[in-house]
Amino acid sequence: MKRLIKNIGLLATFNEGQEELKNAWISIEDNVIKDLGSGKFPRGSFDEEIDANGMLLLPGFVNTHHHLYQSLFRAISSVQNAKLFDWLVFLYEKWKNIDEEAVRISTVTGILEMMKSGVTTTSDHLYLFPRGHTQLFDAEIEGARLTGVRFYGTRGSMSLSRKDGGLPPDSVVQSQEEILHDYERVVNLYHDPKPFSMSKVALAPCSPFSVTERLMVETAKFAEKNNLLIHTHLAETRDEDEFCVAKFGLRPVDYMERVGWLTNRTWFAHLVHVNENDIKKLSEASVGMAHCPTSNMRLGSGIAPVSKMKDTSIRIGLAVDGSSSNDTGNFLLEIRNAMLLQRVRYGADALTAREALKFATIGGASVFKMDKEIGSIEKGKAADIIGFNLDRIEFSGALSDPVGAVVFCDAKGVDFSMVNGNVVIDEGEFVSINEEEFVEKQNSIAKKLLSL
Ligand SMILES: [Zn+2]
Repeated sequence: MKRLIKNIGLLATFNEGQEELKNAWISIEDNVIKDLGSGKFPRGSFDEEIDANGMLLLPGFVNTHHHLYQSLFRAISSVQNAKLFDWLVFLYEKWKNIDEEAVRISTVTGILEMMKSGVTTTSDHLYLFPRGHTQLFDAEIEGARLTGVRFYGTRGSMSLSRKDGGLPPDSVVQSQEEILHDYERVVNLYHDPKPFSMSKVALAPCSPFSVTERLMVETAKFAEKNNLLIHTHLAETRDEDEFCVAKFGLRPVDYMERVGWLTNRTWFAHLVHVNENDIKKLSEASVGMAHCPTSNMRLGSGIAPVSKMKDTSIRIGLAVDGSSSNDTGNFLLEIRNAMLLQRVRYGADALTAREALKFATIGGASVFKMDKEIGSIEKGKAADIIGFNLDRIEFSGALSDPVGAVVFCDAKGVDFSMVNGNVVIDEGEFVSINEEEFVEKQNSIAKKLLSL
């Protein structure tokens, strides 16, 4: 299938040279960008021509951390004002009742919500496996496939329950043997390592305070042997610092060094409470980072020093985090919050709109080590492209810099989205999925789960 996107008002490529082309065009063959330019577009035989007159086009956004099942548990009044550990202890009692259908439906709704705000690739961190439910990861993959998003699933885990000094209840943790066995199973079934893969799997013990040291070590070894990425939460709150020092005799980053996690296979969510020495170690290992500013604000966790990290070798992407701590999956808001939150601590020039957009695109792609395939609009990369109509009210008066306006003027959602060469959103509507149907199902499952 040969496609031409023509008459593009402004094309922000986010390639190496940060080129922004007026009156541009992109030719696409199947799922790959074949060529692009500005001015006269190529005449020739295209199966389809898409007119992007009056639009701003950007590379699709990459969300690097989420807990999609949590979109069933948003704005729960009892924990709207709780700190992370109290918030977790309360919600585990609700989360422990999820089943395969709850995971499948919340995966779909959670992803659709993000796609409306420009996400074309997302990760998810599913770490909760209530006893008796062995197909939750499979249900999540099934849900993700329905949406058409490019998906990086992470097989999460918890092996340390309350009786062992951890936070989660006994019924949602698994033994190390169960977890390692399932790593093998889900990687065989769902990890496609080929270029332009739509389905990848990483391994993701939940956090230092919910898994054993041995599981961290074994996970890193398994990843090394099978060429996989690894992921966990790290240095999110002060409480975690204290927990790690008390339990392991080390602060979180030093503990990661001990368990073999300071490698370029790793990406960490949060990294809020890191000092200069930590940043040096993380940079030397070239780890990835999922920066979650809204979640960090929502839980009062703190401000991750990304302004100090942006010129190091740490690969920085953005993430909405789970919907119990955000409580939205609006990725555009995440980009804006990333920019604004740095300015609260470091001043007006701490992070520019384009730097925040870079984290959201090529930065996220590099976190997944997929920056040769996605994250910018370039010849030979996947056709993951989003578009905004510039006649929307939020862009009015801002047309001197539409790219900056996406962040500064709080763009409300995309009008166009293409993932791997398939148009998934056109004129602001999903092309082949009934959003209302999933919203209805989600609300009925959420109501039931809250009543248990
Ligand atoms: Zn998280």
